Amino acid sequence: MIQLYNSLSRTKEEFVPNEPGKMKMYTCGPTVYHFAHIGNLRSYIMEDVLEKYFRYVGYDVTRVMNITDVGHLTGDNDEGEDKMVKGAVRENKTVMEIAKFYTDAFFADCKKLNIKTPDVVKPATECIDDFIRVIEGLLEKGYAYIAGGNVYFDTSKLKEYYVFNNFNEDDLEVGVREGVEADLNKKNKNDFVLWFTKSKFEDQALKWNSPWGVGYPGWHIECSCISMRYLGEQLDIHCGGIDNAFPHHTNEIAQSEAYLGHKWCNYWFHVHHLNTTGGKMSKSKGEFLTVSLLESKGYDPMVYRFFCLQSHYRKNLVFSYENLDNATVAYRKLIQKIAALKDGGDVDAKALAALKARFTDALDNDLNTSLAVTAVYDVLKAKCSDATKLAALADFDCVLSINLLEAAAKLREETPTAATETAAAAPKDAFDLEIEELIAKRAAAKKEKNYAEADRIRAYLAERGVTLKDTSQGTTYERA
Ligand code: AMP
Ligand code: ZN
Repeated sequence: MIQLYNSLSRTKEEFVPNEPGKMKMYTCGPTVYHFAHIGNLRSYIMEDVLEKYFRYVGYDVTRVMNITDVGHLTGDNDEGEDKMVKGAVRENKTVMEIAKFYTDAFFADCKKLNIKTPDVVKPATECIDDFIRVIEGLLEKGYAYIAGGNVYFDTSKLKEYYVFNNFNEDDLEVGVREGVEADLNKKNKNDFVLWFTKSKFEDQALKWNSPWGVGYPGWHIECSCISMRYLGEQLDIHCGGIDNAFPHHTNEIAQSEAYLGHKWCNYWFHVHHLNTTGGKMSKSKGEFLTVSLLESKGYDPMVYRFFCLQSHYRKNLVFSYENLDNATVAYRKLIQKIAALKDGGDVDAKALAALKARFTDALDNDLNTSLAVTAVYDVLKAKCSDATKLAALADFDCVLSINLLEAAAKLREETPTAATETAAAAPKDAFDLEIEELIAKRAAAKKEKNYAEADRIRAYLAERGVTLKDTSQGTTYERA
């Protein structure tokens, strides 16, 4: 039984599909005006694990993703510049050239991170008729109005608009932020554009005919329509980064349910942010952290995936090169240990089932990937045959997708003896040296009766998976 935290109810709930054995899943795709940063990719990695886990436990999954190639402005409340036009101007290309280039770049990054391509991937510009049909329906039902040439969704027509319910309305008021002009056509501050005909951008590149004049769609309508086109009127899980909960997902729910006249999506899965030590991740300020940048610095994209899996998707995660270095060392050691396992022999079905139970217990509990990674280490420590261990690792990697067996095979090929030797007595790495230094500092603190400092060091190491053992011979340690 899979339990998932649902942003709608703000509780962990047992997953019950609309149709037995089937899971219909929708993912907000990238806005293809630039490369994805590794924060964006954290969301796609965790959603990939979610999809693969449902498949692993036997669900027939259909996953749909849009490509935002029109309508997304730099501010989510219909303010600011058009992201795609901004990208085209930056690179002196057409919007469609930009869209193609960054769509390809996005999937190239996904491939490096073992993120499976969804069953359906649909660019918004290919679904204009769907948007027009749904907007017409919303106008007919009285949920939309035309003002200043644009079509708006009327949020005052809903019983409940703030479905995720944890936002302070005042903070969201358009116009309160410096430099943001309130759109005076809006009857209510959270009304949003379904269709722009009166473009604020004289040079708007992409325009289509519509019953309301030549124009282009707002951002939110695309996800509702693309989901309905491929997944029908009822959706099981909708995913995205937490920043999309408001206004994007809130608006998706408003327009979809107003149009359909019934509940649309049962579970909302939001991935929390990857931040830098300096705060929010950005494509324009500070270092633009992409997969290619990490590769150019010598990092394996698989290590970034492993790093993401080590923490829970509902916690913010801080990216730093130091953290990635630690993940690199941990991943390398893990692969070395796997490379030392011997092929052949019998699989012990009972032992395998016990190992698998730990893995599924972890992921059944709100997709706890951090515990699922612990279950990988449990395999290596287990008292069973190597064949059983290899079978368990191959099985887990269908979900984790961190190349456990492939990387181990490669290591064995490259260094046939080193792999086994290093596993037996792994050489010290930078983290071992840091641990030893901290152990020495802790001993000095204890000597000075500064127990608070000694405890702080122990807790700090514990947080990083290091267990200290004080013995008569001094302090020893064990790394996770
Ligand atoms: P975008 O290309 O801006 O439409 O964003 C693509 C996905 O990345 C969306 O699901 C966002 O919610 C998500 N996202 C944006 N920033 C971050 C971040 N720092 N960490 C994790 N996910 C993010
Ligand atoms: Zn979306």
